[in-house]
Amino acid sequence: MIVEIICVGTEILMGNIVNTNAAYLSEQCAGLGLTMYYQSVVGDNPQRLEQLVTDAMKRSDILIFSGGLGPTQDDLTKETVAKAFGLPLVEDATALGLLIQSFERFQKPMTENNRKQALVPEGSMVLQNRAGTAPGIIIEGKQATAILLPGPPNELIPMFHEQVAPYLKTRSDATLFSKMIKIVGVGESAVETMILDLIQGQTNPTIATYAKTGEVHVRITAFAKTQELAMEYIQPLIDIMNERFTYHIFAYDEDTTLEQAIILKLKEMNATISTAESCTGGLLAGRIINASGASVVYNEGFITYSNASKVKNLFVNEASIEEYGVVSEVVAKEMAKGCRIQTGSSFALSTTGIAGPNGGTTDKPVGTVCIGCSFEQETVAKQFRLSGTREKIREVAVNRALVYLWDIIGGHIN
Ligand code: ATP
Repeated sequence: MIVEIICVGTEILMGNIVNTNAAYLSEQCAGLGLTMYYQSVVGDNPQRLEQLVTDAMKRSDILIFSGGLGPTQDDLTKETVAKAFGLPLVEDATALGLLIQSFERFQKPMTENNRKQALVPEGSMVLQNRAGTAPGIIIEGKQATAILLPGPPNELIPMFHEQVAPYLKTRSDATLFSKMIKIVGVGESAVETMILDLIQGQTNPTIATYAKTGEVHVRITAFAKTQELAMEYIQPLIDIMNERFTYHIFAYDEDTTLEQAIILKLKEMNATISTAESCTGGLLAGRIINASGASVVYNEGFITYSNASKVKNLFVNEASIEEYGVVSEVVAKEMAKGCRIQTGSSFALSTTGIAGPNGGTTDKPVGTVCIGCSFEQETVAKQFRLSGTREKIREVAVNRALVYLWDIIGGHIN
């Protein structure tokens, strides 16, 4: 099944808005195992849009449109696509009902031009818009199918997720099933090199890698008559990935985050954690607490930004700060150890660093971050050199701290 994306809007062509819908739709279609050869952006011009639709119908089975579904004069997608498909627009009772409901929900009066949104190409299916008023539309034409979605991402995403993705699955006689493997501590290019043989040999299942901050996600997708059969194709690849990436894998599904995986591991170990933060100023604690179930394992956190606070609350030696500097592995270790003593937690994680833009030296430039971890057997620390804005350095420092902790609780201290 060949799918094509067409985003409508002069605003996109002018660079006034970023085409995030195309990125979202592409990723979703890839995840559904659909083939895509073309995607385009066209302004609010009916002639050029009609020409594009006519061309696209010849080369793709399903055309997914974003934008131009609203009630205003420049919203021309529905009219133009209907014309290209040779279908008249008719008022649809379902669409009108949904429209009236939306206006009631938003407590707004429905003007006459809004009624235009209840007009749909004859014989098409209507998709409910939970976040806005313009309904989505599916037209099953002789030559191709068109799926018309509203432009605002907060309307398009839930509509795609809840109504379009299930529809696309029904269009295929095979089931598509995918597994996500999430890896930390190995860079994207290293991951790709380590699975190059699998990527090059891919047909069914297919393998796609995605780089996220500090993580690499690998999606394995198989086509098969049933989900069980798809899993039979996928499992041998998971086994190979397990052998190659061992403890670097922290999740096998879409939803589990690194902090959730850590919490699950700590729960299994009957262990607890506390944090002592300087440069990350509470972000680390925030990430851990973001994960549900954190209350069972997370005890407390210190934000010790000044040297005096590190000395007072975490028993850091003034002499260590003097000799090694406050951003040093020695101080990171003392912070972690002090935090563990203060809280009685099984693990204590610390951060101290120079997030910039000021404060860097030749020895310790902006981006130098030391992470410490104290646990029953040992207290360890590691220095990192990060780059980017202050915000980015703090975000990545949190990620490095969580990856460091993941390695340690898995028994891998480096
Ligand atoms: P509305 O009912 O709000 O008029 P619409 O379907 O007519 O929706 P447009 O008028 O084309 O959509 O776009 C409305 C807004 O949606 C844009 O101003 C922009 O903020 C957002 N938007 C449109 N297209 C995209 C896109 N491709 N990527 C990201 N955002 C988009």
